[in-house]
Amino acid sequence: MSIANLVLVPAGFIYHWILEFLADKMPKAFPVEVRIDFNSVEIPPLLYNPENSQLKSEDFLRYLRSIDRWASDEKILVIIDDDAFAPGTNFVFGQAELGGRFGAVYLSRLRPEFYGERENKPLFLLRALKEANHELGHLLGLRHCSTSNCVMRFSLSIWDVDKKDWKPCDRCLSKLGVINVRT
Ligand SMILES: [Zn+2]
Ligand SMILES: [Zn+2]
Repeated sequence: MSIANLVLVPAGFIYHWILEFLADKMPKAFPVEVRIDFNSVEIPPLLYNPENSQLKSEDFLRYLRSIDRWASDEKILVIIDDDAFAPGTNFVFGQAELGGRFGAVYLSRLRPEFYGERENKPLFLLRALKEANHELGHLLGLRHCSTSNCVMRFSLSIWDVDKKDWKPCDRCLSKLGVINVRT
């Protein structure tokens, strides 16, 4: 049983193994059909804050809506190897329309190297999976969850990301009408 069709789309350059890892694992957290659209979205330079080169997340989501080239029954999660912010924040790991169609995950701050630590590909991929699933949860209509290890818990820092699981809790799944996800 699938409750939504999800398309993963790179914006700018993204290694295919990142997209393929997400496409393989995300249906194990939420019962969705995932496909990858390898045709990368170009990011207009105007969408960056000239002062610190951060991408303006809200403007980027608006831009996605304007270039909508996907089927109307598909939810679109764009993966971007950049840093982004939204009004009132210094940065965001991702952003998505609640119950809508468009979301984005920003990879820069998910790399251990960002924090002066050694490169760790498995840890980076696990963090990317958590943030991708978190934004997918929002696209499916889920709000933030207070369950300590739920993927829908809000992450203020990378330590919060590391503390939570890459799957939603039973309460969140039951809100979607899902009893059990195949593993
Ligand atoms: Zn959130
Ligand atoms: Zn939850």
